[in-house]
Amino acid sequence: MAKTANPAENAQLKDIIAHAKEYGFVYPSSEIYDGLQAVYDYGAYGVELKNNLKRLWWETMTRVHENIVGIDAAIFMHPTTWKASGHVDSFNDPMIDNKDSKKRYRADVLVEEHAAKLENEGKVDEAKQLTAALARLLEAEDLAGVRDLIINEGITCPISGTSNWTDVRQFNLMFSTQVGSVADDASTIYLRPETAQGIFVNFLNVQKTARMKVPFGIAQIGKAFRNEIVARQFIFRMREFEQMEMQFFVRPGTELDWYQKWADVRMRWHLALGTPAEKLRKHDHEKLAHYANAAMDIEYEFPFGFKEVEGIHSRTDFDLKSHQEYSKKKQQYFDPEVNQNYIPYVIETSIGADRLFLLTLCNAYTEETTEDKTRVYLKFHPAVAPVKAAILPLTKKDGLPEKAQEIVELLKYDFNIIYEEAASIGKRYTRQDLIGTPFCIAVDHQTLEDNTVTIRHRDTTEQERVPISELHGRIAEATSFRRVFERI
Ligand code: ATP
Repeated sequence: MAKTANPAENAQLKDIIAHAKEYGFVYPSSEIYDGLQAVYDYGAYGVELKNNLKRLWWETMTRVHENIVGIDAAIFMHPTTWKASGHVDSFNDPMIDNKDSKKRYRADVLVEEHAAKLENEGKVDEAKQLTAALARLLEAEDLAGVRDLIINEGITCPISGTSNWTDVRQFNLMFSTQVGSVADDASTIYLRPETAQGIFVNFLNVQKTARMKVPFGIAQIGKAFRNEIVARQFIFRMREFEQMEMQFFVRPGTELDWYQKWADVRMRWHLALGTPAEKLRKHDHEKLAHYANAAMDIEYEFPFGFKEVEGIHSRTDFDLKSHQEYSKKKQQYFDPEVNQNYIPYVIETSIGADRLFLLTLCNAYTEETTEDKTRVYLKFHPAVAPVKAAILPLTKKDGLPEKAQEIVELLKYDFNIIYEEAASIGKRYTRQDLIGTPFCIAVDHQTLEDNTVTIRHRDTTEQERVPISELHGRIAEATSFRRVFERI
């Protein structure tokens, strides 16, 4: 259950949003036109961080695991895909409007947030009963019951303070558009709301062409689109976002073992990246989606409470079976070990690249107050830090810039490096702290004499003298993905 945030924690989110904009991580989309709600753009350092996170996920999946390969499917898919997957009929969220404020809410979220408030007040049993009641009503698709629950619990609109609610209605989250020049129903297609279906419809193509044997997985990173009813909390809930999904195909009957295995592997991945254990937890789903026989979320404690970052779902054979029915093409696999044809069962791990980005930013954002000064820095794991090292000549003369440029040449083909010569060295260190650069390399007069430089470490601010010849090896060691992989 989500923990409601206190005002200080929300102030922290505001600081993080402001920092992300000011230092080139995330901007509101089309900001000169006042932005587009729930859509964001990534800036110079943001794109580097996001690419590093995506690459780390990709390589974990496709390199660390020999039985996982990748694909890159198109965003547009045949519209029947979404009929077969159940999205046309049931990819809905229950929405409710407050008649006084004219604000729209997700009815289930209103109840969950109220339950979280009760939990914070120590009314744990009451909170549990409330979430269980909500789950039952949603399961039974009893929307009038959900409205009664909201009214009986005295849940009011945070803006108007009233409980003058409309009926609860279902709202389909898929964006649709027209393909071709004739605008009739037959040409309506959807922007994919999840990347998973691109994997399912290619299951046999990949299995055959990459000569995969069950158990095996297919990984994909790509854009997904959802017309979210309420888009809040910065890049946590966007209308256009990126998913990193892996579907793991297993023999029927073995799926729950694999489900536990993948939940553990994914949890270890987050820990290996430096997310503290107390900020992560597993949360079993109370209401299972139509395709699942087990499901859990990995949640992270954001400044606005514990929320889902990644879903682990045991999707049974629902998707492949349904595509077989709708396409009339067999989606079976012949398993030579048991000499049988079957439709494999599927375990899915699904994480939003943008949510992982927000987790990484929240986790890295550090304010340290010493005496009268506050130092702000981003404590990124060096493997995902947008810039790995800054090369800083102490002065602009005496041949120091030329020497520093030699070091840039030495490093720039393997690492994302910044060269900077303007402003005092202290100011330049501060600028690198603010974007989370783990190493600042200062070039001074001694460098000209003995080919050594000073490395200043971001987290401790400690400095040490090292030979230029050691720089490449040291940065490579600290930023290598291998250090993360070894801890999984
Ligand atoms: P939520 O309950 O928060 O709406 P969900 O359970 O619908 O999420 P899934 O369908 O399981 O999410 O999607 C898998 C992952 O995709 C989520 O764990 C999340 O990281 C990411 N994700 C889903 N919706 C969004 C969104 N609107 N913006 C950003 N990331 C999202």
